[in-house]
Amino acid sequence: MNCIYAINGPVVKVRDTKSFSMREMVMVGKSKLIGEVIGVTDEMTTIQVYEGTAGLMPGDPVEPTGTPMSATLGPGIISNIYDGIQRPLKAMTALSGVYVTEGSAIAALDEEREFDVTVTVKVGDKLHGGDIYAQCPETPLITHRCMVPPYTEGTVEYVAPDGKYKVNDVIVKLRIDEETVQELTLVQKWPIRTPRPINKRLPISKPLITGQRIVDTVLPLAKGGTAAIPGGFGTGKTMTQHQLAKWCDADIIVYIGCGERGNEMTQVLEEFSELIDPKSNRPLTDRTVLIANTSNMPVAAREASIYTGITLAEYYRDMGYHIAIMADSTSRWAEALREMSGRLEEMPGEEGYPAYLGSRLAQFYERAGRVITLGSDSREGALSVIGAVSPPGGDISEPVSQATLRIVKVFWGLDANLAYKRHFPAVNWLTSYSLYVDTMANWFNTNVAEDWMDLRARLMRILQDEAELEEIVKLVGMDALSAPDRLKLEAARSIREDFLHQNAFHETDTYTSLEKQHDMMLLVVHFYDQCVAALDKGAKVDDLIALPVREKIGRFKYTANDRVSAEYDAICAELSQQIDKAIENKEDF
Ligand code: ADP
Repeated sequence: MNCIYAINGPVVKVRDTKSFSMREMVMVGKSKLIGEVIGVTDEMTTIQVYEGTAGLMPGDPVEPTGTPMSATLGPGIISNIYDGIQRPLKAMTALSGVYVTEGSAIAALDEEREFDVTVTVKVGDKLHGGDIYAQCPETPLITHRCMVPPYTEGTVEYVAPDGKYKVNDVIVKLRIDEETVQELTLVQKWPIRTPRPINKRLPISKPLITGQRIVDTVLPLAKGGTAAIPGGFGTGKTMTQHQLAKWCDADIIVYIGCGERGNEMTQVLEEFSELIDPKSNRPLTDRTVLIANTSNMPVAAREASIYTGITLAEYYRDMGYHIAIMADSTSRWAEALREMSGRLEEMPGEEGYPAYLGSRLAQFYERAGRVITLGSDSREGALSVIGAVSPPGGDISEPVSQATLRIVKVFWGLDANLAYKRHFPAVNWLTSYSLYVDTMANWFNTNVAEDWMDLRARLMRILQDEAELEEIVKLVGMDALSAPDRLKLEAARSIREDFLHQNAFHETDTYTSLEKQHDMMLLVVHFYDQCVAALDKGAKVDDLIALPVREKIGRFKYTANDRVSAEYDAICAELSQQIDKAIENKEDF
């Protein structure tokens, strides 16, 4: 009999190497805690346990299950809240109270719920991995498409009539060969650490529209791309993730709360269930999956939560959806990795993190992309990954930030100084970057406005000049600046305060359409250009800086969507008028 030889926190050792294979899921102890084999040597099998191990004793039994740690994939995932190993938290609390008790073996999907299934194949059809054989409405927003599991091929021998079915009911029988018939239900399993196969990868071409100006205009993320948000405590990582989850134009959001405080997770839950999706007028939870692994939950499960989340996301990508996955925060995940590595007595790398930290992070982000899925009808799916990083003290020279920055293509660096000045989102526009800007240029110019990229370049130039001018001001004072330079500083201030600053709590300002972002850029640039021209014609710089229309430019972001165009025209007219007046009141030479 396999029994426990040693226990060290979440790591359990068994003196038997014959019965277990690497990455296999096992049941540990009398209460059947879920664990995974993470090492097999000549003498010992090492297991990490995903639940609290208090109460386990040497001699307690360990049972192999013969399958790797897998996610259960089928209708009922959306709107659900899972822990790190895909146990539904609501069903568990109903069973065991506020705190989840160990060994609660609960199915990931509600096995009693009935779905309205339409079968899309007929007897005699030849099916391959990825082909859709049935579909059902999962939530009012998402149609669930049941796909033949990858690497499976056969001929349909039986189909169930359309109707109401539970997840484990047989819908289709596939004849694989003379002896084997495979029954397909509404669910399938997939090992969480293995990326789901695809047909081919596609180049990135479209931006993920988020309604956040600093993101869409300045630092765009592509659909199928990767981004990281590093920032110290209180700089707005969580807030930015929430804003993206609420507003980005992905079909489905997978939100992984990894090692964050329980209160914050509660806030996400409450916000998401109250929020109405602007496109469909349905609650946001109709297109969201939450994976909650708060800081008080077992550390090994935190390590697994990232893989569980991305496997669920890949499954929906394979149906032809676009998924955005938010992980908050990958630093807490890396800390879990470090803790496990320490228990395993591995050689520590930089700051105690294991040497494989970089490759593990890369494996996670690598699962993002825009793809042609398996299946004969060549669906296109995309998976975008956004990871928050919380470096201690906000210093991004630490290993997790550095390893992440080597992988991701967008870096939204949060700046404690900006947050301190209450400039939100506190993304530093000078140090952050997006490597998708050039690839997305064409899309923005064709789909929003042909001068989009030119305007963006002008804003960025002014902001860069501002940084240089500020150095000069520090040395010699504001008075030493020429009038055009003073104007440029004012334009930069307008870009920062009127354009980049965006209040997530304001009803209108929380989301800005691309058209409105374009209008806002134009207003700032018009103001600057007309002032420069007026200065040439002799207007006084103090008059130009004090133009009353500037207040209206500043308030334009709060203009309700149906009045944007009229208000824009009104501001332009007022601007020209006031500029003319400033020129009339010109300086005497
Ligand atoms: P972190 O997760 O980095 O510790 P939070 O996301 O909790 O930080 O943000 C801290 C605070 O900053 C929030 O409570 C909020 O008051 C403010 N904040 C962050 N982003 C915004 C924003 N876009 N608009 C308004 N306030 C913001």
